[in-house]
Amino acid sequence: PDRVVLPSVTNKPGKDPRTITFHPVPVVKGRLNFLNTDIDNGKATYELLRDTINNFALPKFHVRTPMTLLRKLIEQNIISKARARLSLQPIQRSDAHLLDSLISTLVHNSLRFKYPPSPDILNLPIPFNGLGFSSIEPARHEQRSVTAAITGPATAVFSISGRAASILHGEVFAQIAAFTVAHRDRDSRLYSDHLLTTTLLERYTSRPDFEHRIRRMNARSYYRWLFALAEQHRDEGLHSQYTPGHSAAVDLPAALNGFADHYATHAQRHRDDLPAAPTPSFAMDDYTFWTAQDGWVEASMRDFYSHHRARQQGRSLASGRGGRMAAILYAGPRPEYPYTRAYASYSAAVQLYARSGQLPTARTLSQRNRSIVCMSPMCRHGCVAVEDDYHVFVACPRYAVFRLESAAELARRIRRRVLPALTDAQSAGIIAASETFYNDGDLWPTTHAMYFLGLTPKLAGLIPRAAFTSNTSYRMCVSACEVDWHYAAIRLAGRIWGDFQSEAAKRHGGL
Ligand SMILES: [Zn+2]
Repeated sequence: PDRVVLPSVTNKPGKDPRTITFHPVPVVKGRLNFLNTDIDNGKATYELLRDTINNFALPKFHVRTPMTLLRKLIEQNIISKARARLSLQPIQRSDAHLLDSLISTLVHNSLRFKYPPSPDILNLPIPFNGLGFSSIEPARHEQRSVTAAITGPATAVFSISGRAASILHGEVFAQIAAFTVAHRDRDSRLYSDHLLTTTLLERYTSRPDFEHRIRRMNARSYYRWLFALAEQHRDEGLHSQYTPGHSAAVDLPAALNGFADHYATHAQRHRDDLPAAPTPSFAMDDYTFWTAQDGWVEASMRDFYSHHRARQQGRSLASGRGGRMAAILYAGPRPEYPYTRAYASYSAAVQLYARSGQLPTARTLSQRNRSIVCMSPMCRHGCVAVEDDYHVFVACPRYAVFRLESAAELARRIRRRVLPALTDAQSAGIIAASETFYNDGDLWPTTHAMYFLGLTPKLAGLIPRAAFTSNTSYRMCVSACEVDWHYAAIRLAGRIWGDFQSEAAKRHGGL
């Protein structure tokens, strides 16, 4: 019905409040609200989360809001709410990506830098040289293997290889296995909790119709194989029938389904010993994507690659951007503390913008300047050099004292760390390198110093392995030194940028 009639009372003066009147109330169809979340309405959830982010008022500080505090506030007030909503009603990936950009804008507005940072770098985990903010867009799935199980007169469990394999492949392959072993001339039942597969087999008996239905579906080669087998069973033989999974019913289908689930789950622990399910390359499209890591990919490439966004992103961030994010070439260990806990986290904020390539140096300002007034890209401290990040942090003599002080402190720290284990001669290399950690040199993969991006060269070559009794103690010493370098690097970058900005502000104020 379009309307239902509901009883109502009134408190208007002059009317008897005991009189019950009836009003027709329009019915909203196709909408289900559960725990305050519109079910099956991703747009509504997206809009709700968007408004939550846009209306989120950060507490006002007379100093810049520390980034570590921002992280906590956003985690507690936005991400946790979003997670709860999204567990009830997922939204489209593109919408989730937009929400992540909004959060990035929120962070940007509180940090008060000139150009916005890259949301990708804000969300990239700290070990990948990102800032490790939680993102709304889900990361790619953990690598796991898929198992398929059938049970009945006999039981078999198979593993399905390739990272592109999903639960779906497992479900369809289990049916393939059953149709393969079942007698073609004996009437029998196959119970499956995979509704789509059983429905497809019930509904389609002609091969062209079936082909038309599945031609763009993920796992279509498995469906084709299954259909060919099911054709052999059409008259007598095996017929598949849907039975709800994880049901509380105590009947044969539910019991068999429970057993098959049990085998499939428990076989995960022995997945290396399981027989591998054959790949139905004979039923694939003429051209099918394949990669060494993923195996055959029949899903739409767009969906597939959005699933693997983080991996792809790490790679694309690494290759472009003037090598700013080529983290793989540099030392691995990165401390979390300055990004997640430290009270004064200006250094972390500078890292976010430096790694995003968004620090307003004269070069960047002049490139983006759209006014008629010509803006020089040269160093504003009078050097005959373009004022880019590299010049400011590595070359400009204005910050020479900062660099020397910072390097002396790092060298002291490194000396304290290595001297119990190393002799003076053995420690000379690492200590000398620490005294000039901000400088270009062969230690750096590109010979250019990249310390201001939170990158540290690998230090193992500077510390003699022979001085240690075990690989473990050696590696611990090397990573401890690399972490010391990381701290020194981001602190120095923060200190230089703080001075740079206050100078720029003074100039701007006409002083
Ligand atoms: Zn300069």
